[in-house]
Amino acid sequence: MPSLKVKEKPRKSPAQSLPKTDSLAAKDKRYLWHPFTQMRDWQEEDILIIEKGDGVYLEDIHGKKYLDGVSSLWCNVHGHRVPEIDKAVSDQLKKIAHSTFLGLSNVPAIELAEKLIRIAPRGLTRVFYSDSGSSAVEVALKMAFQYWRQRGFPKKSKFVKLTQSYHGDTLGSVSVGGIELFHQIYGPLLFETYSAPAPYRYRWPSGDNPQKVMEESLAEMEKVLSLHKDEVAALIMEPLMQGAAGMIDQPAGYISRARELTKRYNTLLIFDEVATGFGRTGKMFASDHEKVTPDLMTVAKGITGGYLPLAATLATEEIYEAFLGPYSEFKAFFHGHTYTANPLAARAACASLELFEKNRILEKLPAKVEFLKQNLRNFYHLPIVGDIRQAGLMVGIELVKNKKTKEAYGWEEKIGIRVIQKAREKGAILRPLGPVIVLMPPLAMEKKELKELLDITYESIQETV
Ligand SMILES: *Cc1c(COP(=O)(O)O)cnc(C)c1O
Repeated sequence: MPSLKVKEKPRKSPAQSLPKTDSLAAKDKRYLWHPFTQMRDWQEEDILIIEKGDGVYLEDIHGKKYLDGVSSLWCNVHGHRVPEIDKAVSDQLKKIAHSTFLGLSNVPAIELAEKLIRIAPRGLTRVFYSDSGSSAVEVALKMAFQYWRQRGFPKKSKFVKLTQSYHGDTLGSVSVGGIELFHQIYGPLLFETYSAPAPYRYRWPSGDNPQKVMEESLAEMEKVLSLHKDEVAALIMEPLMQGAAGMIDQPAGYISRARELTKRYNTLLIFDEVATGFGRTGKMFASDHEKVTPDLMTVAKGITGGYLPLAATLATEEIYEAFLGPYSEFKAFFHGHTYTANPLAARAACASLELFEKNRILEKLPAKVEFLKQNLRNFYHLPIVGDIRQAGLMVGIELVKNKKTKEAYGWEEKIGIRVIQKAREKGAILRPLGPVIVLMPPLAMEKKELKELLDITYESIQETV
C-alpha cells in the first residue's frame, strides 16, 4: 500500500542554511532577548559574538581580538583563561559540580569563607552566600530589616540611599537605587526610601570645591538620618565610588564620616562593594582606604576573578547573633537560592584570591593606577571631556557638549554609544554609562595594554566630536 504520508523535507530554519558564523548571529536574533537592550535596534545591528578569551583580550567568532576594557562588565580580575583558575575549576569538576547548601555544607565554600573573613574589614565575621550582586543586596536589606525587628525595634524598617545610586536590578535593590528611569517604570512595585545627595562634585549646585561638597552633602545626610532616626534600618551606599551612577567619586574622609553619622543616629551601614571590591579601587576593599567597617557588606563581581556567578553578604557577629534563638521563635534568616555557595564558583574564588597573593596583584596596583592617572590628564585636551573621575582602576570620563557651561548631551545623541562603537572598530570593548565613558581594565592588565586602551579611547572620543 502506498503511504499516504507526504514526504516532508527536513525542516530547516533560514538560519541553518547560512554559514556557521552568520547563522549564529541569525539564531541570536531569532531566539534571544538581551539585558538592557532595545531589541529592535539589536535586530539591525552587526552583533559581536565572543568565542574565546586569552589574557586581557576577547576574541570573536571571526578571530578578531579586542581588549577587554571593562573587565567583562567589571568582574574580570586576572584576565581570561588563567591556568590556575582553569585548573581549580576543572579539579573541582572531577569531585562535584554542585550540591545544595540548604542543610548541607561543601568544601570550597567553607575554605572560601575563611579566606573572605581574613581579608574583609576587621569586624566582619560571617559570610552568607548568594549568586549575584543584586541578591547579595537583597540579603543585606532583609538582614538589616529583620535585625531590628528581632532586637525589638520593628519601626526601624526604612532605608536611606544616595541619589543616583545603583545596587542591582531586583525589586529590593532597585528600591534602594536612585536611577530615575527605573523608578519611573517600576515605581509602583518599589518600597519607599529616603535619599541623601550623592557628593557629585562636578555638578554640585554651589560649586565643585571638594571640601565644600563633602560638608554640604554630609550635612544633608545628617538631616535625613536625624529626622528619621526612629524608622531607619540602614544607610546603603557604595564606598569611595558610585559605579553605575556614572562613576561618582567621594571626597577623602567621606566614608568615615558616613560611618560616624550612622553610629550617631543608631542605624546600620551597608557597604555595597559589588563593584569596588577585590582590588578595584587600589586596595582589597574600598572600605580599607579609611579602615571603615560597615555592619553589612555585599560582594560579587570580582569575587571569582570573573569566572562564575557568586556573591556574598558579610555581616558582623552582632548582626549574626540577633538571628539566634530557640527554633520556635523563627529568628532564622529566611533566604537561600538553589545555587547558593556553588562549589565550582567557590573553588574559582579561592583560586582567584590565591592569585592575588601569588602575583602580588595589590602591590603592583599603585604603579598602574598612577600610570592611568598621568595618561588620563591628556584627555582634558579633548573638547568634550568635562570631568575625569578615578578610584584605582575604576575610571569615568564624563563627556559634555560645552566644557564651560557643562551642558550635557541629550540621551538621543547617544554620545557614549557612538564613542564605544568607534572603540570597537579599533579593537577595544567598552560600555558607557550614558555620557560617561567607563574604563575598568582587569587588574592584571599591564602598562603596555593599558596604553593601548587609553590610546583607543582617546582616539575614539576625538573622532566622535
Ligand atoms: C553590578 C552591581 C550590582 C548588581 O550585581 P549583579 O551581579 O549584576 O546582580 C549591585 N551593586 C553594585 C554596586 C554593582 O555595581
